[in-house]
Amino acid sequence: MLHIDHINKTYPNGAEALRGVDLALEAGRIVAIVGGSGCGKSTLLRLAAGLDQPSSGAIRVDGEAITAPHPAVGIVFQEPRLLPWLTIAQNIGFYIADLPAAERRERTDWALARIGLAAYGPRWPRELSGGQAQRVAIARSLVAHPKVLLLDEPFSALDAFTRASLQDALLDLWQAQRPTLVIVTHDVQEAVALSNRVVVMQPEPGRIHSVLDFSLPYPRD
Ligand code: ADP
Ligand code: ADP
Repeated sequence: MLHIDHINKTYPNGAEALRGVDLALEAGRIVAIVGGSGCGKSTLLRLAAGLDQPSSGAIRVDGEAITAPHPAVGIVFQEPRLLPWLTIAQNIGFYIADLPAAERRERTDWALARIGLAAYGPRWPRELSGGQAQRVAIARSLVAHPKVLLLDEPFSALDAFTRASLQDALLDLWQAQRPTLVIVTHDVQEAVALSNRVVVMQPEPGRIHSVLDFSLPYPRD
């Protein structure tokens, strides 16, 4: 359903960030992308989110070309990027502003409860811990019901305890909706804990080194 077809990306300054990247992801799967700094992981996610254009090649979701940000594709960054002038509930409702108010309310309340922040709807982003804020960011993306959620080092800024609880929260939200998840991480342990497919990238130029498929001892599909 997410098809990345022979992507090349050279930045205007001549840096070749990606060469010949092909990836096909089935609906409802979790895939991790690992690799050191400069392998093109962030570039690949930004292209998949429609935030930048490849030099050649195409990205499609269910056959539809992604050339600009699209409701079917959500992206979460290392920092939560909550809007400080909106309440927590308003932040979660931000990408579903065009839904009827009752539906928006229902999805927002559901998400707040699901991430353990039911009482926080009327409060402000500055009142949240880093882990809580990142939960809100993930919930904000998922209430829009994207087919694909891209996560770029989503837990890297968090301590180990918070990271583990955020991984659980992500999987819990994922179970409810089953979007395809693509998680970029430099933490191999995290990649293996969250997914049953790990794409390993290598630098200069950024490209796929190998794809590892393995079964997990617990259900993930
Ligand atoms: P990663 O996320 O794996 O660290 P990036 O996608 O950030 O890799 O970067 C891949 C390569 O592209 C690096 O060589 C980086 O310097 C270069 N690069 C990334 N963004 C830009 C940009 N906006 N302009 C020029 N070069 C860039
Ligand atoms: P099985 O149930 O036969 O053990 P899987 O459910 O692991 O196999 O995989 C079924 C198909 O989905 C295979 O073609 C496999 O390559 C693919 N696949 C497995 N894991 C993922 C993943 N995380 N993302 C995308 N495709 C996957």
